[in-house]
Amino acid sequence: MSRGGAINLTDLSGGQVGEWLQSFDTILCDGDGTIWQDDTAIEGAPDVLNALQQRLGKKVYLITNNGLKTRQELFERSQRLGFHLPSDRYIISPTAAIADYLVESPDFDRARHKVYVVGNAAIARELRQHGIDSFGAGETEQLAPGDLWPDFVAREFGNPEAAKDVGAVVVGWDEYFSYCKMARACHILCSNPDSAFLVTNRDAVHKYPAFCIPGTAAFVAGIEACSEREALEMGKPNPLVLEPLTKTGELRAERTLMIGDCLKIDVGFASNCGMLSLLVGTGRYSNLSDVRREKGKLAQPDCYLPRLADLLPYL
Ligand SMILES: [Mg+2]
Repeated sequence: MSRGGAINLTDLSGGQVGEWLQSFDTILCDGDGTIWQDDTAIEGAPDVLNALQQRLGKKVYLITNNGLKTRQELFERSQRLGFHLPSDRYIISPTAAIADYLVESPDFDRARHKVYVVGNAAIARELRQHGIDSFGAGETEQLAPGDLWPDFVAREFGNPEAAKDVGAVVVGWDEYFSYCKMARACHILCSNPDSAFLVTNRDAVHKYPAFCIPGTAAFVAGIEACSEREALEMGKPNPLVLEPLTKTGELRAERTLMIGDCLKIDVGFASNCGMLSLLVGTGRYSNLSDVRREKGKLAQPDCYLPRLADLLPYL
């Protein structure tokens, strides 16, 4: 099968699909738009992932850019929706990738350092589970009416304690994003050049049928601009998130299939890591002609299926 050919698997014979199924032994599967929509499983998706594990002996991991839940919370959701994964080790999430990265980092000392979070409370919960203290997550921080920004800056940043022992700034999706938060992140990153600057993802926009909302990339871009530093992305499509599995030999990219609904994030990730890719039409794209229209701009998948459930007859 040619790479990037965007072949519709439903056009192939059972024998050809069977041969394709033998070309990988590990599967990475995206969450939203691929196997679930928020708290609802996409019809047939649990049956397919369970059959791939139980009937064909494939190793299945869920990999998401969702930074609004901890790894354990995502595992619990997967169980609740009928996905049978052996343990939370089979969930790859940005909150966990960030916590693991800091635990492993020689420059970050859990006994001394804390983390400033521009993002939601799940990031703080995940850090806490790894023995890391943080502040800012899930909070609002705005200039009070009548408060002037020079007063805010003098009050908050005039004291050297404001940036002392802050070993990392973490940015995720934050509905309370504000000038004050941006100023605090800027002050810490500029004051502590050795601090880590980590972000859950660079998703630009979240498109819903009725509206579009800014993704984490918008917040990251603002903080990168004022701190004059580049953030390290701890989500897809950065191959870094796979390193813990590839280093130990637990995952071989050339024998791994990435399943997802987004060309830029999921198929781009597969392409960056040297993995096979399968795009499903239950999320960002609803038909193959829209996918092919992106050719030349975005990486094309090896294979396509209207729904993950369409794989079930072959398993
Ligand atoms: Mg998705």
